[in-house]
Amino acid sequence: MRIVVLAGGIGGARFLRGLRQAVPDAEVTVIGNTGDDIHLFGLKVCPDLDTVMYTLGGGINEDQGWGRADETFHLKEELAAYGVGPEWFGLGDRDFATHIVRTQMLGAGYPLSAVTEALCDRWKPGVRLIPMTDDRVETHVAVEVDGERKAVHFQEYWVRLRASVDAHAVVPVGADQAKPAPGVLEAIASADVVIFPPSNPVVSVGTILAVPGIREAIADAGVPVVGLSPIVGDAPVRGMADKVLAAIGVDSTAAAVAEHYGSGLLDGWLVDTVDASAVDRVESAGIRCRAVPLLMTDLAAATRMAREALALAEEVGGA
Ligand code: GDP
Ligand code: CA
Repeated sequence: MRIVVLAGGIGGARFLRGLRQAVPDAEVTVIGNTGDDIHLFGLKVCPDLDTVMYTLGGGINEDQGWGRADETFHLKEELAAYGVGPEWFGLGDRDFATHIVRTQMLGAGYPLSAVTEALCDRWKPGVRLIPMTDDRVETHVAVEVDGERKAVHFQEYWVRLRASVDAHAVVPVGADQAKPAPGVLEAIASADVVIFPPSNPVVSVGTILAVPGIREAIADAGVPVVGLSPIVGDAPVRGMADKVLAAIGVDSTAAAVAEHYGSGLLDGWLVDTVDASAVDRVESAGIRCRAVPLLMTDLAAATRMAREALALAEEVGGA
């Protein structure tokens, strides 16, 4: 079985770990979000690609859900001693090595997709991880600070401001000119099922879908497309997805997110059991819907979610 998953960071990565456990023999291609990418200290940092790679490769800091396990921060401290920041972005010593290798390879002319493959040679995530594009895309968020409207990088909004101010708009800058990375459209075209894991619908899955050609390829693939709600009980399970959903005029409910993707894209949608009352609304939008437990409290729970997603795919595929 060939499975394509559009993934952001934590939500995508934890789901993928369950998926691999559920169907160890499946060929899984992960299309990773690169809209979060940022240049720091002269280095190219790809937070979502790395979260997937470290999580599936066994190097993740489990408590945080991002960054490396057994991390130290000497380099960051030394940089701070020179007055060189930003201090608000947590880059540890082990993590720095990944960004140095990546930046060096990019400087030598390799595209990000080839660099990601090389990094994965070490981590062996058990999936094929492809960035959505080799072109530069940067998600910016329009905010108002002290009465002044300005655009900030997504990481500045998320990490430095902790989404404490309202987002007026979310723009994946460069996406309209970007091309899907080599292998992305081919993987979608040859997939048996496409899954939207419980990743952020705006700044993770939404950014991937903003690369021209990807949304169309998924809609035209003629295979079941199923998603899992990152919103449980009318709130994000982690993070601040409600802020960026509000920016695009979507309520933070499992049903509203399904309607936002729409029946043109989604065939099936899983909501948590606490949102069972949303099932009818989603189904009347033309999307098959089931309520099952959607909290990835451990690997077993994520594995059950993956099995439910595949069962729903089979159900809508056979319909
Ligand atoms: P990020 O790039 O690290 O923010 O990660 P993603 O975009 O992949 O995932 C973020 C989303 O995952 C958030 O909107 C969370 O609500 C969602 N999420 C995290 N853990 C869980 C969980 O256990 N269950 C569900 N349903 N959603 C989750
Ligand atoms: Ca992210």
